[in-house]
Amino acid sequence: MRAVCWHGKHNIQVDTVPDPQILNPRDAIVRVALTCICGSDLHLYNGYIPSMKDGDILGHEFVGEVVEIGSGVSGVARGDRVVVPFPIACGDCWYCKQEMYSLCDNSNPNSWAMEKMYGDTGAGIFGYSHLYGGYSGGQAEYVRVPFADVGLKKIPDQLDWEQVIFLTDIFPTAYQAAEQCGIREGDTVAVWGCGPVGLLALKSARLLGAHKVVGIDRFPKRLELAARECQAEVINYEETDVVETLHNMTGGRGPDACIDAVGMEAQGTGIEAAYDNVKQTLKIENDRPMALRQLIKACRKGGTISIPGVYSGFVDKMPMGAVFAKGLTLRTGQTHVQKYVPPLMRLVERGAIDTTFIITHRLPLEDAPMGYRIFDHKEEGCIKIVMNPLAASQATH
Ligand SMILES: [Zn+2]
Ligand SMILES: [Zn+2]
Repeated sequence: MRAVCWHGKHNIQVDTVPDPQILNPRDAIVRVALTCICGSDLHLYNGYIPSMKDGDILGHEFVGEVVEIGSGVSGVARGDRVVVPFPIACGDCWYCKQEMYSLCDNSNPNSWAMEKMYGDTGAGIFGYSHLYGGYSGGQAEYVRVPFADVGLKKIPDQLDWEQVIFLTDIFPTAYQAAEQCGIREGDTVAVWGCGPVGLLALKSARLLGAHKVVGIDRFPKRLELAARECQAEVINYEETDVVETLHNMTGGRGPDACIDAVGMEAQGTGIEAAYDNVKQTLKIENDRPMALRQLIKACRKGGTISIPGVYSGFVDKMPMGAVFAKGLTLRTGQTHVQKYVPPLMRLVERGAIDTTFIITHRLPLEDAPMGYRIFDHKEEGCIKIVMNPLAASQATH
């Protein structure tokens, strides 16, 4: 089969690799109908996530059709159209029983590595380094899905692939981030980063009852989408002082909750940004927390900081004094996608939300190297790229 493979920093190629096989009775094989490049794939592309190996298959956002099941699978059958959540979860451990699927104790065979770094392990993730289990990803024609009964969620007939593709990661991620804000009526929620997760976080915050939502970015196209599609007020951080503007918008108090949809590759301006860039380049610091520092400064006293953006290691100059003095709550973590797919799929089915507005590029899988380049450089107004493996195989045979 054809698959998007990692060969080092900025080196992505589409290779012919062996088809995946059922290895365990609880496995299923899914033929991929649609897959995406995620903002967090760019962390792999840019070489920020350790433990990648030459030839690893990328991709953790994919939907498709079940073509084979192991003897222990009863919840799905061949021919079912399914959404595949990006974390792999066993369904039986203490964390899975609490619906904290992304913290599953049993799905990461390389848990020792993460335990050494973080003190404990998280769930395995498709196509996201050996630290996260070394699973082959979904930017491919076929994928092996472990614990198929727990992971795979059937898609109602009337929904097409594009309507459900973002249930694999970014919509639940955005929704969990908004839910973690504990939104009450009349609240203002500010979102740093109007990429795919940020835009859907603005929408989710509205669904959950936020009175006012504010999107912060520097790309005019993203701010325009935030304003038009999410009814957000917007701030271009290259033109305005973000903290001051947010305070002016909220009667001097600051937003009730702030969402960091940027993560460890934050851009910024001035001396602080230069400092983080140098430290990250010299590998003294893993993550550039410019956005996070600003969130902490802007948030109102007693407010909540929700962090769906990915961080991988140590951050420097974390204003812990401000977190303490202002009595802030920090909520973070990978998304418990399995928990969110059924209710969010119902919202899509009901027409309460349409997430397809973020798609800017539709490419065959064969064009993945170009897709990564465009997305990384934010060229052509790129927000979200979806790729079709079927179109790819037609092009190559
Ligand atoms: Zn993703
Ligand atoms: Zn588990």
